Amino acid sequence: MDCVFCKIISGEIPSKKVYEDESVYAFYDISPMAPVHVLIVPKMHIASVNEVTSENSAVIAHIYEVAAKLAKELGIAESGYRIVTNCGKNAGQTVFHLHFHLLGGTQLKIEMC
Ligand code: 5GP
Ligand code: ZN
Repeated sequence: MDCVFCKIISGEIPSKKVYEDESVYAFYDISPMAPVHVLIVPKMHIASVNEVTSENSAVIAHIYEVAAKLAKELGIAESGYRIVTNCGKNAGQTVFHLHFHLLGGTQLKIEMC
């Protein structure tokens, strides 16, 4: 499948890995929008939130566990952070492999949209 994040997970495209386990991979965003900008992705190819079902949703809960752990390790748990998932055209999703942006390390804009 021609998916950039599947290629990152397989190692075909290099990335700066932050965390990996059997179902989740996390790496630094190539064009960071905050001092800490990590992408957390399921290893299984799920295109977007539109494709989350009762069959695959367990990995989403696990991603939030990983996010909490990484926030502590990256030193932003106390100062605060935002987790963002873009879905589809109006949200500006550019990579159609579900991913969660973990953003922090500075005062983030209050506006959500
Ligand atoms: P989206 O706009 O789909 O929510 O976010 C996609 C994100 O993936 C963007 O922030 C973009 O910078 C990041 N990205 C796209 N291609 C690559 C890549 O090859 N490597 C890394 N590390 N990040 C990427
Ligand atoms: Zn993929």
